[in-house]
Amino acid sequence: MKKLAIGIDIGGINTAFGLVDENGDLYADSVVSTKKFPLFTDYPAYVAELTESLHALADSLSFEYELVGIGIGAPNANYHTGVIEHPANLWKFPVGETNPDESRRMFPLVDDIKKAFPGVECRMTNDANAATIGEMIYGNAKGMKDFIMITLGTGLGSGFVANGEMIYGHDGFAGEFGHVIAVRGGRQCGCGRRGCPETYVSATGIKRTVFELMATMTEPSELRDIPFANFDAAMVSTAASHGDPIALEAFRITGELLGYALADAVTITSPEAIFLFGGETIRGFIFALLCGVAIGTYSSWFIATPLSFDLMPESIKNKGKE
Ligand SMILES: [Zn+2]
Repeated sequence: MKKLAIGIDIGGINTAFGLVDENGDLYADSVVSTKKFPLFTDYPAYVAELTESLHALADSLSFEYELVGIGIGAPNANYHTGVIEHPANLWKFPVGETNPDESRRMFPLVDDIKKAFPGVECRMTNDANAATIGEMIYGNAKGMKDFIMITLGTGLGSGFVANGEMIYGHDGFAGEFGHVIAVRGGRQCGCGRRGCPETYVSATGIKRTVFELMATMTEPSELRDIPFANFDAAMVSTAASHGDPIALEAFRITGELLGYALADAVTITSPEAIFLFGGETIRGFIFALLCGVAIGTYSSWFIATPLSFDLMPESIKNKGKE
């Protein structure tokens, strides 16, 4: 009998899921809204809708198969415990919450899914780690034992593979490249630290950089007429492709910062490759960053060994819907 697994990708807007075989071929897929359940108290209703939709998906195939497992990628997911721990953009406390204690925002999704699918193996990991494992099994990292995955989007995620294994660390949260300190005393980050790469090298970060540059540079720019609320990272890519001086400077600063931070990561882990991963909307953004990354990385130690290191775009299609 055919063996299939369910893969689930939890994003801030939607939760996408599909039935796949061991070759990564997709047999059926569907989506539920995550955004419809924004509050802390909405979590049980979210689980109910998700598990009901998963059962509907599992029952939708016309042939018999064995459901061998369920795998989940989610923000702030702890691989060891199966709990989503105080995620920044999911199931938040309502405004005016009398007890906004972050330690209460722990969502045991693996246990909740297991209750709906008794006897089926269920594992969950951080979304960037899931992208890393995908690249390792189906993508360009096949056969590699040491590589770094960087996922660019609203935030900056990462996954580190050493000796052929994901690095989880003792608490399940190792390899958080987005939260090393790249700029001492720099921008305030949602994690509580200052100067994290995520506050610069992300869709939100580049937006902050552009607005800082507009205050300090006098050059004309097509970005000056766009109100902050309507602004997105894709507009910076478009402006850069027109040679806009502020957009180009924003990419230079962002790419260089990413490059220097990656040079440190390379020094520590000695990877065969670094993969930059992102959805269609930030593809232009990724390629524009590569020049800056090259400046940062190649100007440091491994200019002596440039062939031991390679930058590749992500090779597997991102089926997640943000
Ligand atoms: Zn941070």
